[in-house]
Amino acid sequence: MYAALEKNSSVQFVKGVGEKRAGLFAKLGIFRVGDLLEYYPRAYEDRSQKKKASEYSGGDTACIEAQLVSPVREHFVRRGMTLYKCEFSDGETVIRVTIFNNKYLAARLKLFESYILFGKIEKTLTSASMASPEIEPAQGGDIIRPIYRATGRLNSRAIEKTVKAALDGVGRLRETLPEDITRKYLLAPLNDAVRQIHFPKSAKELEQARRRLIFEELLTLQLGFLKLRSASRERTRLVAKKDYTGEFMRLLAFKPTAAQERAVGECCADMASGVAMNRLLQGDVGSGKTAVAAGVIYTAVKNGMQAALMAPTEILANQHYETMRSLLSGTGICVRLLTGSSPAAEKREIKRSLMDGSTDLVIGTHALIVNDVEFSRLGLVITDEQHRFGVDQRAVLAMKGDKPHTLVMSATPIPRTLALMIYGDLDISVLDELPPGRQTVRTDVVDSRYHQRIYAFIKKQIESGGAAYIVCPLVEEGESDMLSAQSYAEELANGAFRGVNIGVLHGKMKPRQKEQVMSAFQRGDIKILVATTVIEVGVDVPHATVMLVENAERFGLSQLHQLRGRVGRGEQQSYCILVSDSKSETSRLRLQTMKKYSDGFKIADEDLKQRGPGDFFGNRQHGLPQLKIADMLQDMELLRLSRECAADILKDDPRLDKPQNAPLAQKISDMFRDSFTA
Ligand code: ADP
Ligand code: MG
Repeated sequence: MYAALEKNSSVQFVKGVGEKRAGLFAKLGIFRVGDLLEYYPRAYEDRSQKKKASEYSGGDTACIEAQLVSPVREHFVRRGMTLYKCEFSDGETVIRVTIFNNKYLAARLKLFESYILFGKIEKTLTSASMASPEIEPAQGGDIIRPIYRATGRLNSRAIEKTVKAALDGVGRLRETLPEDITRKYLLAPLNDAVRQIHFPKSAKELEQARRRLIFEELLTLQLGFLKLRSASRERTRLVAKKDYTGEFMRLLAFKPTAAQERAVGECCADMASGVAMNRLLQGDVGSGKTAVAAGVIYTAVKNGMQAALMAPTEILANQHYETMRSLLSGTGICVRLLTGSSPAAEKREIKRSLMDGSTDLVIGTHALIVNDVEFSRLGLVITDEQHRFGVDQRAVLAMKGDKPHTLVMSATPIPRTLALMIYGDLDISVLDELPPGRQTVRTDVVDSRYHQRIYAFIKKQIESGGAAYIVCPLVEEGESDMLSAQSYAEELANGAFRGVNIGVLHGKMKPRQKEQVMSAFQRGDIKILVATTVIEVGVDVPHATVMLVENAERFGLSQLHQLRGRVGRGEQQSYCILVSDSKSETSRLRLQTMKKYSDGFKIADEDLKQRGPGDFFGNRQHGLPQLKIADMLQDMELLRLSRECAADILKDDPRLDKPQNAPLAQKISDMFRDSFTA
């Protein structure tokens, strides 16, 4: 008996799979035939493009034909972890190959046979190596072959076979896009595209398949965003009848930048519109987002609304509280701070004052305010996002109560066109200008041989009134960052910085402890703060002049930029020292970017270029749906087209009720299912 396969059938029913294999596929997130067909190759081995190892640079994805020139040696590392090592030669270069846990592959390799090695190559001056490359016999096979992300027991070739069987079993795939769209945007039929993305006969075929599938994926994303956006554009009774921006600006001790004025103006216009504000404020570190927030709060409160300002950490909530109190002093606006470490009686009292309306602005951590507090007339919620709250959390908040105006502040600059589409459900204001007189932080990249010199330099800085952050080496995942920070601090206290007051800050500390350390550092009692990346978020210590980052290669550029933004906030010249012993050329180039640019938008551009948006945003952080094939930076042009197309579709069929849009509506709910379950 043989039933035809459907996209919804379990992979278990694909020829050659069965129950056990299905379990392996499940590990890759593949449960149904549809998942398998959307499990696109992560690369292709184009055998017409083989090169010699010497023609690649370290970090490249290489495709090399080489002979196995040594026996395969087995090394037990620990239970469940076996390494196999062997050497290949391409006639010029010996390539050291390591294979992890793949007994089957190791046993198959034959001395002096030729193989195609495909994968990332690392190089030193004298040798080349590849860790877990794809290894296939050099004989036979198609010119272009798909390479799939594999898991230990399920290699790329096995996946390839299964995909082939599934494609044979499903028959012609039903089209998902309305015909007028495939025609207008010159898109290949779905059936062809899916077959060709897995088994392209030529580069051109592959290109057409990719274009079609990317377009469809981006279209789904944009449709989802636009729908979310219109859902959040409900009318609200919270209308700011009068704009108090001018009055607020006169309260400021400094002259606002044009960008700050524009941003406050845009927010106030939103609040006056009768439709709830749903806006992102983007600005580089130090661009003055807090003053913008204060301005918006001022107009909201003067119009009779309550406001909440939420920060990702308690330290930041404290700092915002101090800043807001001074920015809003003498205005009669009642500001309260509510954090986990407020005493219970005070917490109760503050909550009561929010319910009876006597507190105008509450500042606190996100978790606390979202879960614990009721307001009498909440009109404005500002989230100092610092890149930590995702789309899903925004959606949760927007559903709370009476639809307040919301403003999300992000310190991670993203190129504007991209931001428009990534934060597709938000309007955007950008602070593209720093307050005048900002110094540039001098940045250097060195290796660890310079440690003694750096320490001496830091000592001098401290003697002349400065202070230093030291971001200690990152630890392996699962290990505690606490140990790493503490032992590094001890080492310094017993060595180079004997007699200097050193503080430690790490993620495992209670908020109260963190805060004590932070304020001692702010007061100048602590001169060196050894920390894990918990200091990344916007803490302000103007007399700190040195930011030293160990293992800098392990950080993203945007993260390094955030860290660097912790110094250079006062009058003194400040320094950022990036320590890295990485031999990889790619890392070295990346770190040089930090030296070259101080503009966060430029760095973000580079970061995106070098790492791709997947890593740049890190799915958990941005809360965006996981994309299977599109790369929002590489595919900017298709992103633009798909946005235009999405707008057209919704104009004609706002609720996607028409039959020709049914498959798309289904795709949207599939794609956003994971992001919006709250
Ligand atoms: P961020 O955008 O990183 O949150 P902040 O709001 O913390 O930046 O502002 C950084 C510093 O710049 C603060 O000390 C603030 O008082 C100061 N500042 C903000 N706007 C201006 C301005 N227009 N002119 C001078 N200083 C400003
Ligand atoms: Mg800030």
